Amino acid sequence: MGKFSQFLTKYYKKEVGKIVFENGLSLNQLSLEMWERLGCSQIDPSVLSRVMKGKRLFSFRQLRVFCDLLDIPQLDRNNLFKNLEEDYLNRCGEFPEEAEHYILSEFINKQDALDSLVKMLPEVKTSLIQSLYDKLIPQEGKMSTIGLAFKKRSYYKLIKESVRLKNINDKLGSYNVKIPVCGFQRTVSNFEDNCNCGYHLALYGVIERGTKQLKNRVKIQQEVNKWINYFFPVQRMQESLNKNSYKIA
Ligand SMILES: [Zn+2]
Repeated sequence: MGKFSQFLTKYYKKEVGKIVFENGLSLNQLSLEMWERLGCSQIDPSVLSRVMKGKRLFSFRQLRVFCDLLDIPQLDRNNLFKNLEEDYLNRCGEFPEEAEHYILSEFINKQDALDSLVKMLPEVKTSLIQSLYDKLIPQEGKMSTIGLAFKKRSYYKLIKESVRLKNINDKLGSYNVKIPVCGFQRTVSNFEDNCNCGYHLALYGVIERGTKQLKNRVKIQQEVNKWINYFFPVQRMQESLNKNSYKIA
């Protein structure tokens, strides 16, 4: 049984061998209501029963509908979503479509990033690309100001820390977390409305550490920017070169 299905036990009782949810619906009735709200697809009593037993996981959309039907309060919703994320993290290779960015696109190494930038930007001098890269992109393995080295391993550590946050409050909201792979732009204090991609969870982890260690919003944002540069060196370099129009023949 995963953490999610354990947490779920809070919302139903077993009465004479039958499951009764908080709103009085049976397993069959609830799954029928969910099925209707999910566009007459995605769920049936056996799926719901397997979710309750921890044998499979809800998709994020299914969980949202489940929470709506049981009128679950926001704090509990946040916890349910976090537990679901954590179970997904612990079951590698079984991610729902919405969470597929968890499976990290390969971290590109410096030489490969430089090679592709040189190819993409033939009008820019190679030496300029190299020196800008050293200025903009954190060096692999270098210690950051939040006590974690810029390493692939840190990405997973940050995601885990973020999923385990007790409370996502206003302190963590409104940071600029615009990244190339998704449309999400600013952190929100409500976990359910998170983007759910691994990069953004990792950035919440950066902000949480920053809130404890750096305390100052400007410094925390700078730290967030460094991690974005580290995750997306090629795209960040391209943006910077375009913005500053380093078009040197
Ligand atoms: Zn995202």
